[in-house]
Amino acid sequence: MAISTVLRILRARRVTEPAGPSSPNQTGPDELAGSLQLRHVDAGSCNGCELEIASAFGPVYDAERFGARLVASPRHADGLLVTGVVTRNMAMPLLKTLEATPRPRVVIAVGDCALTCGAFRGGYGVVGPVADVVPVDIEIPGCPPDPTAILEALRSVTRL
Ligand code: SF4
Repeated sequence: MAISTVLRILRARRVTEPAGPSSPNQTGPDELAGSLQLRHVDAGSCNGCELEIASAFGPVYDAERFGARLVASPRHADGLLVTGVVTRNMAMPLLKTLEATPRPRVVIAVGDCALTCGAFRGGYGVVGPVADVVPVDIEIPGCPPDPTAILEALRSVTRL
């Protein structure tokens, strides 16, 4: 599908979220406090951010003890953990994944690529940062972000 077609569809289907705290913010909806199920979406990452997410959920940092878990389906999730710049091939799947995630939900953009396109800015296969495709609630900067920064962001939602 041509990128112009993808962008036209994205604009037409642009997801609008109810007004909340000024976005992007560093907290999620109150309803998600204590338990946060996340579907991870790699929208075009180099996999550096994935290594840090794996570390954040591994035995050392153990994000699950703070109420955050990774799940396999957006229908079981409270939000998305999105890494990487959004590529042409992943723009529509990212939008569809968000649409499949029940509300209230939170979108967490992980890494400089997800926030600003990072090292891939201007690439031929790049649509843009995550916020150009879906509304972003929480930003975690870094290339890649440290597991402690990921934990801090997750805890801002679970508040544990
Ligand atoms: S922010 Fe850095 S580590 Fe993460 S996907 Fe981009 S280049 Fe890779």
